[in-house]
Amino acid sequence: MILADFHIHTIYSNDSTITPKNIVECLVNHNFVKVAALTDHDTIRGLKETIKLAAPYPDILIIPGVEISTAQGDIIVLGTTEIPKKPWTVDSIIDFARSVGAVSIVAHPYREYGMGDLARKYKFDAVEVLNGESLPTTNKMAKKLAKDMKIPGIAGSDAHTTSEICSIYTEVKASLDIEEILKSIKKGLISIPPKLNSNRN
Ligand SMILES: [Zn+2]
Repeated sequence: MILADFHIHTIYSNDSTITPKNIVECLVNHNFVKVAALTDHDTIRGLKETIKLAAPYPDILIIPGVEISTAQGDIIVLGTTEIPKKPWTVDSIIDFARSVGAVSIVAHPYREYGMGDLARKYKFDAVEVLNGESLPTTNKMAKKLAKDMKIPGIAGSDAHTTSEICSIYTEVKASLDIEEILKSIKKGLISIPPKLNSNRN
């Protein structure tokens, strides 16, 4: 079992002050969260550096990812080292994720830049049901969305400052391996620690 923060922005997102070094240091020093996904807005520019900095530490793992801005709302793709080709539509992002063996996730559906109920029309792999930057009420709505769509719910901090990294995380039945973690998300072998739920919901 591993604990992972599936939603983190670096300085390459322009609205975040987190450096790749900050993420690696946080994982190295954290007692139990040892996995972090990089989900910068529309870019993977921070990836190479972060993975390189993490390489000397065998007990931490960086999941490559991106948060794509579509006209309908934000979509997180976990497990990709490439950016999908434009134009970015909901369907094209979901298809892209599938084609590269990545996971497509509805980001903070009921917050600004969220897809809201429109997400119900598409075949996403998961919904972000606990987002560190969202209000408890909108997280609760996201939880209902995942339940209605019968797809798993993930949690992520959506960190834009260092102190937020790994403040929200998902429990995953997998070892420290990207493929295994992605597979477990798709299978729903994930849960959100009750401690986080009671704090945020
Ligand atoms: Zn975000």
